[in-house]
Amino acid sequence: MPAILTRVTLEPSMDGVAALPVLAALPLALTGAGGGTPLPDLCDFEFDGGPDLSGPPSAFSSLDSGTPPLETTDGHHPAYLRQERYGAPDHDDYAPSLPGEAAFRHSGWSAKRRRIYQALLRTGQSCRRVANFADCGNTLWLHRDGQELALTCNKCHDRLCEPCQRERQAEVTESILLKCHDAVQPLRFVTLTLKHSDTPLGLQIDRLTSCFKLLRQHPDVKSAIAGGVWFLEVKLDKSKARWHPHLHCVVEGSFLDQKTLARAWHHTTGDSYIVDIRAIGSAADRARYVTKYSTKPLHSEVSRDPEKLQEFVTAIKGRRLYQCFGLWSKAVRRTPAKRKLLTPIGHINTVWLDALAGVPDALFWMRIAHGRFPKLRRTYPLPQAGKDEAPPP
Ligand SMILES: [Zn+2]
Repeated sequence: MPAILTRVTLEPSMDGVAALPVLAALPLALTGAGGGTPLPDLCDFEFDGGPDLSGPPSAFSSLDSGTPPLETTDGHHPAYLRQERYGAPDHDDYAPSLPGEAAFRHSGWSAKRRRIYQALLRTGQSCRRVANFADCGNTLWLHRDGQELALTCNKCHDRLCEPCQRERQAEVTESILLKCHDAVQPLRFVTLTLKHSDTPLGLQIDRLTSCFKLLRQHPDVKSAIAGGVWFLEVKLDKSKARWHPHLHCVVEGSFLDQKTLARAWHHTTGDSYIVDIRAIGSAADRARYVTKYSTKPLHSEVSRDPEKLQEFVTAIKGRRLYQCFGLWSKAVRRTPAKRKLLTPIGHINTVWLDALAGVPDALFWMRIAHGRFPKLRRTYPLPQAGKDEAPPP
């Protein structure tokens, strides 16, 4: 039985969107001694909307993710990926993801996730990468964080995993916006595109980033761009047949008109001249732009095309999706995740089963968890609360 703690005053939020601390590596054998356990790599995690899980509880298979039933879900939630493991389980350093854990972390993008998972398999990615991707969100534990309830889980950090990327990109966005705030010279948005061609995506990305380096050395541009950041965006053209990679940049520097920039870009690339440059209107515009382009590694139109998705997975492997340059070259630094002192309550499954068995403390914590994280109501349902159900002492 998990450690059940004494009651504290908690105000469950019913809005369904809450900060969720997540662990990079949670020890499997938390004892819940009640004195607080230092936990590594804590960070914030925000859920997207996902399917509406606010209705009455039911089985996983009844969830509507907006996608047809998939043949490999084994009747579980579509977000659950059944990743086969080979060899003795003694050598596994973490537990496989459970269907409820997968549904909780990934229900907002289950169909896209499954397509990416299949692309990872088809492109021969390492077993470890595939297993980490499939098991992202496992070891879901309830904790007390002061007066708050916190959930923690393992995460895969894969650049194609949306929840993990949202966490990372939140850090990047914050760093860039801070740099924008401290900029001495005017800021501008710049978009640089390449002429459409049938060249493989990987080569086009290499060419795009190489040309941008050369552009910054161009005599008409060099003095006008002191520093900045570029974000790579990859889309398909209107025919959905050819790639349309382009760079969205925030640059700090002196005035640079569109014609001069277009001429310099054409001079650099030899065939491309479509560029866009505009002054930043307000801090809100700045925040919107940076947030939009720092969180777009994969467009849905690409993920729906198995062949294009396969090429995309291979093409971005080992390549940068954003880069700071010039005066901004050190704008984004990886900061060690904050370590927080959390008090473990128990693994979600254990607390849930105790709650179903009528253990008062477990019921109390599960009801708090349901209020704070409504997604849990569908995957870990509870009977209706009785009028005379007493809170734990
Ligand atoms: Zn992940």
